[in-house]
Amino acid sequence: MRVWGFGGVGEVGGNKFYIEARGEGLFIDFGISYAYRRRYFGFFLRPKKFSLLATLIASGSIPLIRNLYDRELFDPTGLTSEVLHKAPELNVQGIVVSHPHTDHIGHVSLLRKDIPVYLGVGSYEIARTRELTKPAKTIEDKIFVDGDRLVHLFRTGSKVRIGSFEVVPIHVDHSVPGSYGLIVHSPEGSVAYSGDLRLHGPKSVFTEEFAETIASQGVDVVMLEGTRISEEDQTTEADVEKSLINKIVERRGLVAVLTGLLDYDRFRSIVSASEAAGRTALVSPRMAMMLNTFRNLGVMPEDLLPGKGKVEVLVERKGSGLLDRQDYHGWEREYLERLLDKGLPLLTDLDVAAYQNKYTVVLNSPDDVLDLLLMRPVEDSLFIYSTSEPHNEEQEIDRERIDNWLSILGMKSAQVHASGHACREELEHIIRMARPKRVIPIHTEAPGLFQPVLSRAAPGSTLINLHPKTPTAI
Ligand SMILES: [Zn+2]
Ligand SMILES: [Zn+2]
Repeated sequence: MRVWGFGGVGEVGGNKFYIEARGEGLFIDFGISYAYRRRYFGFFLRPKKFSLLATLIASGSIPLIRNLYDRELFDPTGLTSEVLHKAPELNVQGIVVSHPHTDHIGHVSLLRKDIPVYLGVGSYEIARTRELTKPAKTIEDKIFVDGDRLVHLFRTGSKVRIGSFEVVPIHVDHSVPGSYGLIVHSPEGSVAYSGDLRLHGPKSVFTEEFAETIASQGVDVVMLEGTRISEEDQTTEADVEKSLINKIVERRGLVAVLTGLLDYDRFRSIVSASEAAGRTALVSPRMAMMLNTFRNLGVMPEDLLPGKGKVEVLVERKGSGLLDRQDYHGWEREYLERLLDKGLPLLTDLDVAAYQNKYTVVLNSPDDVLDLLLMRPVEDSLFIYSTSEPHNEEQEIDRERIDNWLSILGMKSAQVHASGHACREELEHIIRMARPKRVIPIHTEAPGLFQPVLSRAAPGSTLINLHPKTPTAI
């Protein structure tokens, strides 16, 4: 068996692994590399639409493989064909996606539509809802919405046949529902792939199940994510809920919380804390659509849907600022019309301004900070960052801008967060349970830090460091 790390080696995210046995292969994840994006592109420095593929290949952001990409994305001047002309071909039987974060699934958007994509039911539905509701979609945002991609859905424990491979997905705990670790059996051996995982969330037992399966099936090689191999912080989602309650209860002013659109566990913590403080959580129509998806997937109880007492929809005033139907388009207009048909009130920033201690405003993007201006926060208002600390320049700039607005608005800020990734001690625990003979660090900037962890957790086992873009025998 051989494995290529076309992305996700020495970087957090951008996972694109190709596993090959007897001349056939599978891609495991095909995500967007944000490290490459930062290195070569910026706000105004972006690939042109007609030459996106050629530009991404030239920058090394995606692999130089001849028979992988959608011909409709080849540029009309022939640069893509020229670049790919002498590139190697791979005998790709399919792409298996571990979970719906864009650093794992995003660049599936560039691939030939007849290459089958295998993913969990939850991953698929969540990715589709995110895609459908995303404003200003680019080529890289369109994976499934056109409906012409070959898709095969799986659930935990499924045995998925792909060419001469058998893939067994096992659910894991991460910051989005529908996340899987994968066990890949090939005619030349087996390998386990962690995807992204943690042991400190509400579904930690899922991650333990994955590690136990690796041990019980005797899988020797584990590709293990190490995003937080250098960190010891073990803040749990339960700690987050307690801390949110402390911060929100008895606050007299506005409370706004910035969190990820897909992070269901965090949403639940925010609603619980709001409830404890006698507040109703307000979500955008986009988040409300995502909540419908969570509900349909069976991961969320019905009482967390808008209109059931704990959560309501906050409509952003657009265009004229007068809630005119003409100001809304597509899915959003349909959604708002459905609310109006049901006779539900449309809450806006004006309602929040009038009753500041009645609501918790849930925001999903740093750009939403401007909405707070119209909510006219009074004294004792709080903005809670419930996302990871900024870990690159762009995120630092985003945070600085929010802080600047908060000081104009006179709002205090706080950070309340638990990571979607296992810390060092959790990784050690996972290795101890899985008992692999070899470990391949992935999704980490510090693969070297695995060695002492491995020596403690599985003495005698070896560390394999992949070289980016060239095959390693495993
Ligand atoms: Zn990731
Ligand atoms: Zn992830």
